[in-house]
Amino acid sequence: MNIDLEIYSPVHQIHDKLFDEQGLKVFIKRDDLIHPIISGNKWRKLKYLLKEAQTQNKTHLVTFGGAYSNHLLATSAAAAKFGFKSTGFVRGEDVNNDTLFLCRLHGMNLIFADRESYRDKQAMFDKYFAKDGGVFFIDEGGSSALGAKGCSELIDELDDAYSHIICACGTGTTAAGIINGITQHKLPTQFDGVPVLKNGEFLRKDIDGFLDKPTPYNLHTDYHFGGYGKVNDELIRFVKQFVVNTGILIEPIYTGKMLSALYGLAAKSYFSPGSKILAIHTGGIWGLLGMKEKFKI
Ligand SMILES: *Cc1c(COP(=O)(O)O)cnc(C)c1O
Repeated sequence: MNIDLEIYSPVHQIHDKLFDEQGLKVFIKRDDLIHPIISGNKWRKLKYLLKEAQTQNKTHLVTFGGAYSNHLLATSAAAAKFGFKSTGFVRGEDVNNDTLFLCRLHGMNLIFADRESYRDKQAMFDKYFAKDGGVFFIDEGGSSALGAKGCSELIDELDDAYSHIICACGTGTTAAGIINGITQHKLPTQFDGVPVLKNGEFLRKDIDGFLDKPTPYNLHTDYHFGGYGKVNDELIRFVKQFVVNTGILIEPIYTGKMLSALYGLAAKSYFSPGSKILAIHTGGIWGLLGMKEKFKI
């Protein structure tokens, strides 16, 4: 089977008084529209991993994630679509939630692992699958050089030149791919990453590890709102306002933090007048289902 998805990821302009005042043109690339489940950067990260699994005649994808992992969900749907079996190791106690329900609906077998075992993924994988020649190991979040390669293709799709591309960073694989794409196309575009985890400077090591060649980029480390998966009322208000103002659905774990950074940086005149900025909507809106009570609506 040919492992590919037709990419539908248009670029839409975002209008806001703030951007007019600052002389900015702001656009958003709608990777959230690539697929309802295999959304955003998760498809880009999986593409070459699945192709590699197929080349190696593997039939069973095995991967890892938290109980609300967009990566587990995307892998379950991609496995079903392209004819693989799938297993997900889930960090933490045996629970059920909307995300895991959807993983199971796509046929993913879930194995719950306590935090201690989860720390050594390879050992956990070996314990269950060492003697199974059909399994293909995919790291948590799809973090890999092949994942970055898939993400670099986002740049091939751009019709316009941008002074900045801004994107949320979890493992940093997507960031590295985008930076590689910018380099390959010899664009003057500056990359602005927004780590969604606390002390995000540590991501530089991971991002640099996937770069084709050393390249400068910026990380804005003050927009994590308390750490991975953490939100506060200010962020929730921002997300609500953005959705109401634009009709573009976002969640607060990744794209909400990235856009909040974009608006915050614009308000601080970080971008010079005339800048043309492309924000990446990395998808993951099913993550909203784990956040319903935070919205108090
Ligand atoms: C997984 C995810 C990210 C993080 O991507 P990395 O390549 O791990 O940095 C960003 N946004 C969304 C919506 C995600 O699901």
